[in-house]
Amino acid sequence: MNAPYPTRSFDAATSPLRVLIIGGGIGGLALAQGLRREGVSAAVYERDTSLTSRLQGYRVHISPGGSRALHECLPPHLFDAFDRTCGKPGRAIHFLTERMRPLLSIAADMVTNDDAIARHRSVSRITLRQVLMAELAELHLGKAFARYEERGDKVVAHFEDGTSAEGDILVAADGAGSRVRRQFLPDAPLIDTGVVAIGGKVFLDEHRAQLAPKLLDGMCLVAGRDGVCLFVAMQEVNDVAGPIGANEADSVQSGAVFENTRSYVMWGVGAKRARLGMDADEHDPARLAAIATHAVAGWAPGFRTLVALADPSTLSQFAIRTSTVVGPWPTGRVTLLGDAIHAMTPYRGIGANMALEDAVRLKRAIVAGARRERDLFAAVAAYESEMRDYGFRAAGNSLRAMRQSVDAGALSLTAQRLMFRAIDRLPPVKRWMASRMGRD
Ligand SMILES: Cc1cc2nc3c(=O)[nH]c(=O)nc-3n(C[C@H](O)[C@H](O)[C@H](O)COP(=O)(O)OP(=O)(O)OC[C@H]3O[C@@H](n4cnc5c(N)ncnc54)[C@H](O)[C@@H]3O)c2cc1C
Repeated sequence: MNAPYPTRSFDAATSPLRVLIIGGGIGGLALAQGLRREGVSAAVYERDTSLTSRLQGYRVHISPGGSRALHECLPPHLFDAFDRTCGKPGRAIHFLTERMRPLLSIAADMVTNDDAIARHRSVSRITLRQVLMAELAELHLGKAFARYEERGDKVVAHFEDGTSAEGDILVAADGAGSRVRRQFLPDAPLIDTGVVAIGGKVFLDEHRAQLAPKLLDGMCLVAGRDGVCLFVAMQEVNDVAGPIGANEADSVQSGAVFENTRSYVMWGVGAKRARLGMDADEHDPARLAAIATHAVAGWAPGFRTLVALADPSTLSQFAIRTSTVVGPWPTGRVTLLGDAIHAMTPYRGIGANMALEDAVRLKRAIVAGARRERDLFAAVAAYESEMRDYGFRAAGNSLRAMRQSVDAGALSLTAQRLMFRAIDRLPPVKRWMASRMGRD
């Protein structure tokens, strides 16, 4: 039987492989670092003009799998810088009612392990991007991808500024709104779930004493009876490693949004648009504060205080979107990773970890092809097949987790609470639950 891609095979003997990566987010940069480490030529084209061009989000949970992927992609000194600059580990994960009554508490030592590499971490997104961008010679900022074309044995990326770049493989790492995916897989639309999250940071140097102790313990999750859910996480600054973990030069002008050196508690309030009374996207901090305050108006005072204390300049909103499952496509010179193919709701906190998993697997496939250990396109096809499997499974699980949080219905929420209370009294089940955290 003929291979499905014989005419497209790449001859590593006659020319060195060149990889074009569209998007310098978590997945694209990790792939670039991994390829660089293996001596494969790769260039990243990122739309942002600087690290502070737009809000990167707050903190991100890195799972043991994500940590392993970073360890394989980064040179040892950068992995060390990443490790040192992660937030101090929290003490527990609490599932609470909107009255702040405990349902289930999982102590950190049930979740963490002694593995120096593969463990749970909490990292500032700004710091993570500093780590991932460090020492990349071919990182082109201010390059907004417009379209690609296949030209003979090459693929050409065209940018909005009229320039172009040629390579052997083009990787879509341009996030949920991927333009590459829109051209490559036009029948794979992104779905707006109708749920919106508003997030903010409360700086601990100013407000630690005003916050309920439970909220300073690590992570708290609340699915309220009123269709509103709340996520709370500590990001306690640990260390800096030179420029990694420090503020960017222009972040002083940018205000607290890009402040990267102060410890904080972040919160995210999520609900359906109608429940929040938001017909359209809202970016005015005063309006966002009013909407979030109103959403938790009937909740325990500790939650209301938390929401009220957010620094206004750190408030932002996210429309929660998810991907649709796409069947196999013929493998060629364009491939995808991360949110560009399997965007998911943030309700399981695994999207970045899936992007890292993709990056390390795609890196291995490309390196095997570049070294002629395997046919390049056969290796990429195997990556794509596995990635579709775990990536869309993770997207489906994340969608279910969102629905359980904001759309459960009274009966199902009561059942969920009874189950949490029961698990809280059953340490072996708790340990099993803890072992599933951060996995797809
Ligand atoms: C509120 C929130 C909290 C989250 N928390 C977690 C968490 O704790 N743990 C976790 O694992 N995941 C979390 N996620 C999900 C996670 O952020 C994403 O899954 C992850 O960032 C995806 O990585 P990526 O590299 O695929 O895309 P991104 O990180 O989104 O990177 C895409 C990059 O492409 C660039 N780009 C876009 N268009 C173009 C273009 N036309 N040309 C050039 N460049 C372009 C963008 O500027 C961006 O830099 C969270 C998401 C949200 C919204």
